[in-house]
Amino acid sequence: MNRKTTRRRFLESVGLAGAAVGLGRSRTLAGMLQEGKTPSVAMTETEKPALLGGKPVYSGTWPGWPRTSKSDEEAVMEALRAGRWYRSRSVPEFEEKYAALNQAKYCIATSSGTTALYTSLGALGVGPGDEVIVPPYTFMATVTVVLLHYALPVFVDSNRESFLMDPAKLEAAITPRTKAIIPVHIGGNVADMDRILAVAEKHKIPVVGDACQAHLAQWRGRSAGSWGTTGCYSFQLSKNLCSGEGGAILTNDEAAADACFAFHNCCRHRPNGRGAANYRFGRNGNFRMTELQGALLLSQMQGLEERAQLRSENAAHLSKLLRQIPGIHPAKEYEGCTRNAYHLYMFRYDPSQFAGMSREKFLRALRAEGVPAIAGYSPLNKAGFLLDALRSEPYVRVYGKKTIDQWPQRNECPENDKLCEEGCWLMHTVLLTTKEHMERIAAAVAKIHKHTALLAKA
Ligand SMILES: *Cc1c(COP(=O)(O)O)cnc(C)c1O
Repeated sequence: MNRKTTRRRFLESVGLAGAAVGLGRSRTLAGMLQEGKTPSVAMTETEKPALLGGKPVYSGTWPGWPRTSKSDEEAVMEALRAGRWYRSRSVPEFEEKYAALNQAKYCIATSSGTTALYTSLGALGVGPGDEVIVPPYTFMATVTVVLLHYALPVFVDSNRESFLMDPAKLEAAITPRTKAIIPVHIGGNVADMDRILAVAEKHKIPVVGDACQAHLAQWRGRSAGSWGTTGCYSFQLSKNLCSGEGGAILTNDEAAADACFAFHNCCRHRPNGRGAANYRFGRNGNFRMTELQGALLLSQMQGLEERAQLRSENAAHLSKLLRQIPGIHPAKEYEGCTRNAYHLYMFRYDPSQFAGMSREKFLRALRAEGVPAIAGYSPLNKAGFLLDALRSEPYVRVYGKKTIDQWPQRNECPENDKLCEEGCWLMHTVLLTTKEHMERIAAAVAKIHKHTALLAKA
């Protein structure tokens, strides 16, 4: 498609949106975007960027989160009245249903996504002296759990286009001490599991998937969290399936299921499992989910599929529109990603296509137009808490001063540094709307692009 056709198609698509988003009858978005027309003194209120006092593209609201229903109330009250708040009925039922939903043999419900990851590493016997491979574009918990086991995190740089671990850089990070690899399906976009699992299998290293943002996401038609040794989910309030706090581990490996169950539940046997026979490391704790959480999750699972479909449809529409605006790059998916969960709608912003205007100003301008866009993660490999932990006395004792001193250099991720400067997000709730809302978002970005020279100066 040449530039002219691309442009025309975009103008057609958002020109239509012009009317829907209240851009006014006389000033359609197509009109606003006409080439060669610099903003004039006679610029209307509608046309003027909202950041400079103009009328916002959208002044309506966006959906809130979480969503509650009568069914949630009944489910929680029933669990409450039953009085057996310890895992007894709702939690095992949730485990069974969540495993089935994700085409996995086993599910172990936990108190959080963090404890699901922590339990997986504990069940694999990760400890001081071991290395665990992680990506740098993720929530801090992915690396927190490595630190809790006193293992050494080893970062593999991101692929900027996908926002995910660069599979081409994985093998070089493996050493004889590598005990686990944690690919993260960030924002619900699925890491390249074909290549990651191929490297992992070649070196016989278990893979613990962090699917905490990837409910119902799929790799080659199968749930993202069902690949690898275990896959971990979070049901924290912000997540696409939530119960305030909560988590789950999926696995198809019976020994891993027994070991995870024992680790998370004071070394007890998994019902019908082999328990201690499959768990040799002794360390354990209480990382159980409560019945109230289990009951709420069973109720919240209703509508999960419909919401996932709505997010996918709206995200596809939004990407189609945004890709036509110079300097806006929606996150790419790997070929095997058959379903993105879109916990986050992620895109990169290239200031060189916006007269050098900073990302922060772009985001402020976008929010002024009524679009709740925010900046993404900052580099995790440079986070203060992580460097503090590595310089702590126990770490220096285990790994030696030289290893710790050299750690920052060994873990540089230049692509991710750039990604962290460019990354922008919309939360998943923004996608629980309509096609017209997606057109409003695209119209707002196009409006900013059109007036970028003016905005950059202001
Ligand atoms: C939310 C999240 C976690 C941790 O889950 P909690 O339930 O908050 O403990 C881990 N990894 C990622 C990528 C997350 O988004």
